[in-house]
Amino acid sequence: MSDDHRVLLLGPPGAGKGTQGDRIADRYDLDVITTGDALRNNKEMDISELGLEYDTPGAYMDAGELVPDAVVNEIVVTALADADGFVLDGYPRNLDQAEYLSEQTELDYVVFLDVPEAELVDRLTGRRVCDDCGATFHVDFDPPAEQGVCDDCGGELVQREDDTEETVRERLRVYAEETEPVVEHYRELGSLVEVSGEGTPDDVFDRFVDVIEN
Ligand code: AMP
Repeated sequence: MSDDHRVLLLGPPGAGKGTQGDRIADRYDLDVITTGDALRNNKEMDISELGLEYDTPGAYMDAGELVPDAVVNEIVVTALADADGFVLDGYPRNLDQAEYLSEQTELDYVVFLDVPEAELVDRLTGRRVCDDCGATFHVDFDPPAEQGVCDDCGGELVQREDDTEETVRERLRVYAEETEPVVEHYRELGSLVEVSGEGTPDDVFDRFVDVIEN
């Protein structure tokens, strides 16, 4: 894969898209475009002029709902304009976004990270993120050497506000309703490659590379 490859990463919340996206980007020298991170950096942006349910992206996120398409599409189109090769993670999350994306760029790989639903709640509610460098850990599956402290930079580990059990369940419901049809859409187009997201991050990455290179 050369640096002008365009990879779309699909999968439920907690499948490991962020972890694998970073690794793929490193391996193949691609940009990572993550709408979730972009929105977390703009949680307090005033979007009241849209006249929708909430006035900031953060209010949608903390409720486990999707941020309105107008906001997210703008983020993606700006990021795509700056990228040659990319890994796109967290977008599209509904069929309208998928249609918008198809008007903006071609895709070379559409990869679906598959993890059984029963595992997702445990993965998400136990996730802890470094407040300083963004590294992720898990209280049971990938604990830091010292509880609450980042192995990489010594920063404080915190729980994402939307990783509480109630919000996780809502995010999974929204995923089933809005995003599973997107997965089905790419499957019908014949462009979907499925990779099991079970096991360690190293296991999943090996499978990923295997699928892409073979
Ligand atoms: P993530 O980090 O991908 O799990 O995203 C966290 C939250 O950001 C989601 O629960 C949504 O509220 C919001 N979000 C991220 N990507 C999108 C998107 N493509 N469309 C709408 N909302 C999004």
